[in-house]
Parts: sequence; C-alpha cells; structure tokens
Amino acid sequence: MHCNRAPHRYNSSADINRFFLLFGVKKLKTMTTLQDRFGRNIEYLRLSVTDRCDLRCSYCIPKGFHGFDAPQHWLSFDEIERVVGAFARLGVARIRLTGGEPLTRSGIAGLAQRLCALPGVTDLSLSTNATLLARYATGLRQAGVSRLNVSLDSLDAARLACITGSDCLQQILDGLIAAKQAGFSPIKINMVVLGGENEHEVESMVEFCMAHGFILRLIETMPMGDSGRSARYVDLQAVRQRLQQRFRLIDGVVSGGGPARYLQSADGSFSLGFITPISQHFCDTCNRVRLAADGMLYLCLGQEDRLDLRALLRAGIDDTGLETALCDAISRKPERHEFKEQPHKTVRIMTKTGG
Ligand code: SAM
Repeated sequence: MHCNRAPHRYNSSADINRFFLLFGVKKLKTMTTLQDRFGRNIEYLRLSVTDRCDLRCSYCIPKGFHGFDAPQHWLSFDEIERVVGAFARLGVARIRLTGGEPLTRSGIAGLAQRLCALPGVTDLSLSTNATLLARYATGLRQAGVSRLNVSLDSLDAARLACITGSDCLQQILDGLIAAKQAGFSPIKINMVVLGGENEHEVESMVEFCMAHGFILRLIETMPMGDSGRSARYVDLQAVRQRLQQRFRLIDGVVSGGGPARYLQSADGSFSLGFITPISQHFCDTCNRVRLAADGMLYLCLGQEDRLDLRALLRAGIDDTGLETALCDAISRKPERHEFKEQPHKTVRIMTKTGG
C-alpha cells in the first residue's frame, strides 16, 4: 500500500500490524493509522450526504440562499461506499452521517446499512434536526446507526420557529420520542447558544435533558459565512460556571464525546458538554475530516485545504490510488482554524461543508 512509501508521515495498518507481529506483541484489534504531520490520529469521518436542509437556521443558511449543489453533483451511494471503504482500510472506524439534513436524502437507511457492513467500520452515528426522525428512527436503528445527535436550539415553539424559519418543535419532539423507542443510546441534544435569542433558555434545556435522559451539548457560534458571523456570539465559559453551580455538576467524561468538555451530575445520570471553538479551541486534539456532499474532502472546518474526491472517483481512480490520495490529503491537514483571529476568513457555511 502507498503508505509504506512514507512511513514517517503516516503509518498503514499493515505497517503497524507487521511491527506487532515482528516484536511478538499481540495484534491490536482496532488501531488508528492515519496520522497527520502534527501527530494527530485521524480516526473519524463526518460524511455529508446532502447540502440541503428543510430548516433555515439564521446562523447557518443565509436568507434567500440558492447556492445548493445539483443532486447529480452529490456523491452517489456507490461512490460514498468506496470512499468510506478506503478510509476504513486506513483505520478510520467511526463515521457520522450529516448534512445539510441527512434525512432528506432518499434511501439514507439503505446507505447506513451498506456502510455498517464495511470491514473496519465499527461506529456509525447520525446528526439530524429530527424533523423527519419519527418516520425514519426505527429503520435507521435497524440499519445499524447507534448514536444520534439532535439539533434543538429552543423549547419555545415561537422562538424555535424564529430561529429555524419553520414551525417544527412538535415534529422534533415526536422524533425524539421515536428515537428513544427505537433504542438509540446515547441521544445527544446540540443547542447553539445565541445572544439575545435563546441564551436565557439554557437552564430549561438542562432540565428537559435531565428529565428525558439526553446528553446536552451547548455550542458557541462559529463565524462561518455571513450567517454565522451575524449571530450574536456568547462565550460559554461563564455559562459553564453558572450551570455548574446551579445544578451542582462535577467534571465528567463522555466516551466518543469529541471536542466537548463535560460536566456531569454527581450520580452520573446527566452529562452536559461545552463545544467552545472560539473561547477555548480544541484543534490540538482534532481527530476528524469532513466529506462534503459534492465529494470535497475538507481537512479543517475553518480552512480551505481540501481534496476533490469526486473528480478522482469519476476519473476512474483505483482503490490503491484512492488510499494514497487520502494519505496525502491527511498529511496536509492544517494545524488549526482561525475563527478568532480571522473571523472573516471562512466563507463556507456549515451546510456546505457538512456539519
Ligand atoms: N441537519 C443536521 C443537524 O441539524 O444536526 C446536520 C447538519 S447541521 C449544519 C450541524 C450542526 O451545525 C447543527 O447543530 C447546527 O446548529 C450547527 N451549526 C450550523 N452553523 C453553525 C455556526 N455558524 N456555528 C455553530 N454551529 C453551527
């Protein structure tokens, strides 16, 4: 495999397993093998299946936005399967389906089933706004999706309609009930905290999540596109202190918790995460890359470094060439985003990159 040619930059699973065999150490079952030039192991792929969304969150998609891709530009399910297969052979075991809104792409449960069946894929999760979840929860669970993140910025129907442009609270609550019944665990609620809009609602969101057994993650707005920049940013460090005291929370850890820093209740029954890309960025532990619906592999949420996989796939690249291209791309992963230092730099909105 190509990676053998540059063992100092990244290691193939074959290299590492050969090492363990040579030195008589038992072969490790799962091993991350893609490493970037800053020593970060890349073990997680966020996979966008569409850039379209049925909601219009004010901080995400600009009003009147028409720049969506034509569906024929999206990677087909066969193309997605090839890319995920290549990542899995390079040790990327965890995949998250996202978008846009992934449940608006027809056949999503079938795709989930195909990805779960790929050798090396051990964890398939999904991020959704849950408007269509009541319809799809059981099928997705049966297809092998185990973990679910649901975006929910308000429990007040009028305010949520104002943020999302749609009267969708009841649909989302129905989706959450269906997800629980289908056996998803854990279910995480993601709430973007918006100054002057929902920031006073974090306490009631904590109580809601405690009551229903959901993990809550509060997220700082990122200056992605004019829409992201126009949201009123709230520094979550102070919110963290306030909630820690009010709900008597202690430091905690959640497995697969990604960039969130967690607090939890003393009995461990409730976890509260903070995703703080601005007030306390977490790029030194970044373990992920993002594949946009159009086949562009983005190496960092806030930088332009990318690889056009659709062009390579449609030019007939073989599997070895694909793995080589992925290894080369990972070696170019930037050190960090510059959301704080250069807030005007990122013109891509989240729904185009894949959230
Ligand atoms: N539709 C799916 C969902 O709602 O989870 C997946 C895609 S959505 C773009 C992923 C996440 O990105 C959502 O939680 C959304 O709130 C968040 N998001 C979008 N734009 C953002 C921004 N500028 N800053 C922070 N979060 C953002």
